[in-house]
Amino acid sequence: MSDRIYNFSAGPAVLPEEVLKEAQEDMLSYKGAGMSVMEMSHRSKTFDDIIKGAERDLRELLDIPNNYKVLFLQGGATLQFSMIPLNFMQGKADYVNTGAWSKKAIKEAKRVGTVNIAGSTEEEGFNRLPKQSELNLDPEASYVHFTSNNTIFGTQYKTEPEVGDVPLICDTSSDMLHKKIDVSKYAVIYAGAQKNMGPAGATLVIIREDMLERCSDDLHTYLNYKIHADKDSLYNTPPSYSIYIMGLVYKWLLKNGGLDAMYKRNVEKAGWLYDYIDNSDGFYRGAAAKEDRSLMNVTFRLPNEELEKKLIAEALENGFSGLKGHRSVGGLRASIYNAFPSQGVADLVQFMKDFKARN
Ligand SMILES: *Cc1c(COP(=O)(O)O)cnc(C)c1O
Repeated sequence: MSDRIYNFSAGPAVLPEEVLKEAQEDMLSYKGAGMSVMEMSHRSKTFDDIIKGAERDLRELLDIPNNYKVLFLQGGATLQFSMIPLNFMQGKADYVNTGAWSKKAIKEAKRVGTVNIAGSTEEEGFNRLPKQSELNLDPEASYVHFTSNNTIFGTQYKTEPEVGDVPLICDTSSDMLHKKIDVSKYAVIYAGAQKNMGPAGATLVIIREDMLERCSDDLHTYLNYKIHADKDSLYNTPPSYSIYIMGLVYKWLLKNGGLDAMYKRNVEKAGWLYDYIDNSDGFYRGAAAKEDRSLMNVTFRLPNEELEKKLIAEALENGFSGLKGHRSVGGLRASIYNAFPSQGVADLVQFMKDFKARN
């Protein structure tokens, strides 16, 4: 393992080393099955235990109420941008526009019905989230859609927007399982696996059962949530290996104290970085408004782009990979998801201190 480096990639992203080692042990023959999980039928008893076990552990981690279904689908969060309006939009829906991913969700919803932009910080470069008082919600909307963590801009909701009786739908792709959330506040929660839960390929959907009554039989089969719920995510071949790894990640979370312990660690890790940024005499500047800063994606700037490039290059030479900000916004971004080791954040802070002293 000595050649593993600190991986600050926004996604696909770092996985727990214990999980990778366990997968390695199981690679050629999964627990006496004589074959890899990649090679086995998704209809086998062995795989059934894997997918059911993953669901059970996820339910325990999040205290998911019994009237919610857990689905493992494909197509990424991106397919959810289409499936949500196709299944649930009856005429109009509210969307909160907080960044690039919200915009992509809005683009697809507009193909289906009327999108009311219930709030937006686009004019401010998405460096903060709209406040509750700024939201213009329509009580007749089919649902309200928001993005809990804006991976590119480094902003994150601390609590859900208040939306009354309108179903709340959330893209949690980049902060799913970073802390315990109250699932009962949501109608649908979805997330691509590859940021905080596992490898690319699987998309998690947690859906309140009454929402399934809205899914029209006229939809193409794969796009219909009700089909996936009725078939326990086995309508077609699911992303079986990704689901297996997600299951290992859920076990790892449970073994390490569950989501409250993980949240404490996340607050601590991000705190080290933000505290140093704020106390660097302005050499480093946080890109997002303080009150909306993300615990997962820490975005920051240096005095000029030359220094930013220099830091990224020197960091890479020193074993810190993936610090370049998204190409659309520039600057730097340290993605420090659940599996990112505390030591790596401490070492990055030390590296940033040294870099400042040299420059
Ligand atoms: C990465 C990301 C997506 C896109 O996910 P895919 O799995 O690539 O479709 C959507 N929303 C958010 C918040 C993301 O971070």
